Amino acid sequence: MTPGASTQGQEWRNSILIVDADERDLTALTEMLGGEHTLFTVNNGKRAIELAKQKRPDLILLDAVLPGVDGFEVIAALKRAPETGEIPVVFITGLSDPASEENGLTLGAADYISKPFTPAIVKLRVQKQLQIVNQMRTIHLLSETDVLTHTANRRHLNTYLNQEWKRAARDQTPISVLMLDVDNFKGYNDAHGHLQGDHALREVADILKKKAKRSVDLVARWGGEEFLIVLPGTAIEGACIVAEGIRAAVAESVFYRQDDSKARLTASIGVNCTVPRPGSSWEAFISEADKALYRAKQAGRNKVSTAI
Ligand code: GH3
Ligand code: MG
Ligand code: MG
Repeated sequence: MTPGASTQGQEWRNSILIVDADERDLTALTEMLGGEHTLFTVNNGKRAIELAKQKRPDLILLDAVLPGVDGFEVIAALKRAPETGEIPVVFITGLSDPASEENGLTLGAADYISKPFTPAIVKLRVQKQLQIVNQMRTIHLLSETDVLTHTANRRHLNTYLNQEWKRAARDQTPISVLMLDVDNFKGYNDAHGHLQGDHALREVADILKKKAKRSVDLVARWGGEEFLIVLPGTAIEGACIVAEGIRAAVAESVFYRQDDSKARLTASIGVNCTVPRPGSSWEAFISEADKALYRAKQAGRNKVSTAI
C-alpha cells in the first residue's frame, strides 16, 4: 500500500512482486497488471526472497519452476521470515499436476493457477487476493485509531511505546513524551455543547499532528481531552521546543463553531525525556510526565512544565 493512503474513500495503489523465469509470461503479467498496480519483477528465486523482504509487496505471484532456488523453496523461506510471512503468495506455474498444487497450497500459497493462464482469470484472482489484503489493512488501521480524533488509540500507543522504549534502551538514545491536557474543557462543553467540544478536540488533534511531524513521532489519545505525544530520538531541548510550539499553536488557534462564531482554547503540557535503562519499563516515565502536567496546571494553565 502507498504510505499515507487513507481508508476513507481513497483507493490505494497495491504493489505486486512477480517472480517468473519465462520472459514472455513475465511480459504478459506486467502488461496485464502494471496499469493499476506498482510492480516489481524478478526472474530467479534468490533475488525474489531478497526483493520481497526489501519491498514488502502486498501480493507475490510466483512461478514454481525457477533456476537455482525453486518456487517451493521460495515460498517456504518467505513464510518462515517475519517480514514476509503474512504476504499472500499465488503460484502461477506450468507444474499443473495435483501433487505440485497440493505441495504449493500446503506450503501456504493463497491460490494456485496453472499455465498457460487466461489473463482475465488471473486478473480476477489477483483482484480477489488484493481485496482481502485491503480489507485486512483497513481493519488493522481501524483497530489502531481513535474514532473521534483520528490519532492513535491506547492499544496502538502501548504497542508503539513498548517498541520505541526497547529500541531507545538498546541503542541508548533519548526518548521524550509530552502529556497534554486541554484546559478548562468542561467549561467549553458547558458553554458550547458536547458536539462542539468534540469538534474542537478534533481540531486540537490536527494541530498536534502538524507539530509532531517526524515520521517516528506518534500522537495518541490518552483519554478524554488528554493526548500523549511520543518523540523517539528526541532530547529534552527538542521536546521542549515541540511542546512550546504546540502550546502556542493551540493558544493562537481560533476554534470555529457551527454558527461560525469563534472560540479559544489553551492546553497545558508536561514533558519528560530519558535514555531508558535496558530492561526497564515506561510506566514511571509517563507518570513523571503526568506530574509535570499537573505542575503546569498549578502554574496557571497554558504552560509547559518539564519533569527533569
Ligand atoms: P483542567 O484545566 O483542569 O484540565 O479542566 P478541565 O475542565 O479540562 O478538566 P476536567 O477533568 O474537569 O474535565 C474534562 C472535560 O473534558 C470533561 C469532559 O466532559 C470533557 N471531555 C472528555 N472527553 C471528551 C470528549 O470526547 N468530547 C467532549 N466534547 N468532551 C470531552
Ligand atoms: Mg483531563
Ligand atoms: Mg482538561
